[in-house]
Amino acid sequence: MIHIKSLEEIEIQRKSALAVSATLTEVATFLKPGITTLSIDTMAETFIRDHGGVPSFKGYGPKNHAFPFSLCISVNEAVVHGFPSSYELKDGDIVSIDCGVYMNGFHGDSAYTFAIGNVAPEVLKLLKVTKESVYKGIEQAADGNRVGDISYAIEQYTNGQYGYGIVRELVGHGVGRNLHEDPNVPNYGRRGDGKRLKENMVLAIEPMINLGTRNIDQLEDGWTIVTADRKASAHFEHTTWVRKGKGEPLSSFEPIEAAERANGELNSAHYTA
Ligand code: MG
Ligand code: MG
Repeated sequence: MIHIKSLEEIEIQRKSALAVSATLTEVATFLKPGITTLSIDTMAETFIRDHGGVPSFKGYGPKNHAFPFSLCISVNEAVVHGFPSSYELKDGDIVSIDCGVYMNGFHGDSAYTFAIGNVAPEVLKLLKVTKESVYKGIEQAADGNRVGDISYAIEQYTNGQYGYGIVRELVGHGVGRNLHEDPNVPNYGRRGDGKRLKENMVLAIEPMINLGTRNIDQLEDGWTIVTADRKASAHFEHTTWVRKGKGEPLSSFEPIEAAERANGELNSAHYTA
């Protein structure tokens, strides 16, 4: 069932989405080589709870297989759902950080891929194109369009224009009182296909784009998804309000980008390149 939100509910959900953006901004201020991904998770959980939220991902899923952390942290060839760990970030890594915050009955969901120091130009370009593709999707998140219009726009840009691999097994989704709601929002598809979009739906639009093959493997932890060829993968996501004309992101990359540019340990070339 697809939920249509009231304007009041959307403003409540915007606060949850901006709490995610604030958490990713806080993360961006202290990312550097040598810190463990587990320390990022610990910091983020404290930040979220200090701001009156609950990490949406912690304990998500079936009881015997719940996600054990607040963030999904996926380094280099990891696509999504990576476990925070004792791994220390190093110069040249990219790190995709996916965050959800639950506040006042609504979830926000947003992801951003950061570049640590001297990242290969072809990987920086992957980040830039993947980030831009989120906005290609958001432009199509318009009342009267169909889900396939979002899918097609992302596919045309990332694969059609740049030849990147699009992960198919994982997709965007409706988001609201539940973290994952209908409809699914694939990052590939045909114009005019799928469910019709109505004003005041809220969708998580989240391309997962690979430098090489679109094929993926799952690691033995039962969660982490990696590229089959172990080449880099990027993930950007906005909680998006479906409106007349085009969609509007409820989460924001702007404060994250400002923190990224101010942090001398991060490579923000994918922001301006
Ligand atoms: Mg997410
Ligand atoms: Mg999501």
